[in-house]
Amino acid sequence: MTYDLHIHSCLSPCGDNDMTVNNIVNMAVLKELDVIALTDHNSSRNCPAFMKAAKEAGIRAIPGMEINTTEEIHAVCLFPTLEQAMDFDSYVFSTMPPVRNKPEIFGEQIIVDENDEPIGNIDILLITASGVSYSELPELMKKYGGIFFPAHIDRSANSLLAIMGTIPEDVDFPFFELYHLGLRDELFAKHPVLTEKPWLHNSDAHYLWDIAEPDRQLDPRIENFLRKKEII
Ligand SMILES: [Zn+2]
Ligand SMILES: [Zn+2]
Repeated sequence: MTYDLHIHSCLSPCGDNDMTVNNIVNMAVLKELDVIALTDHNSSRNCPAFMKAAKEAGIRAIPGMEINTTEEIHAVCLFPTLEQAMDFDSYVFSTMPPVRNKPEIFGEQIIVDENDEPIGNIDILLITASGVSYSELPELMKKYGGIFFPAHIDRSANSLLAIMGTIPEDVDFPFFELYHLGLRDELFAKHPVLTEKPWLHNSDAHYLWDIAEPDRQLDPRIENFLRKKEII
């Protein structure tokens, strides 16, 4: 199963305005990916349009979010249904600090419909830390029916390792996302606990041309896990 489970739309301030739901979906279809997820910063508000566009195009799609925790750790959350994603979205939104976006500095935060027509903007800045702490994620995922995995665990900013320095034992996750594939051996030598879990590599695309190539198969352990959770 070829995949890209970490993609940003024009709703993320850092996401290109050409990252409309149909552009994302059509690019994924062109690249012959089997499954994609929309994971904007602290918001799932483009997921309704994304799910419709994906259904129309006949590609398997997962509604999601890349949450920025209180500690500034990025984690990707995925949900079996749009309703669950939107319920979680409402909760996360309620925890966001009232910091207004400055589109001229951070970029626009555009909500689109299934025809890529802009239907609104989010005023508060989505890339700030939410009021959700990393240690709350397992309990929240249970409550909202989703799963989470630490994003770009090996990046020097906004990653579990960058913020915590180690993998906290009290917060379990089923798999994790690697960013620098070339540094994998080095990372695993430093944190042997990571060798016990499967990993995946997504594009974290903010521009259309960055969406993943179909050159990587989802680890069967991750695929089985996502099937069991009815996410795929
Ligand atoms: Zn991130
Ligand atoms: Zn991201």
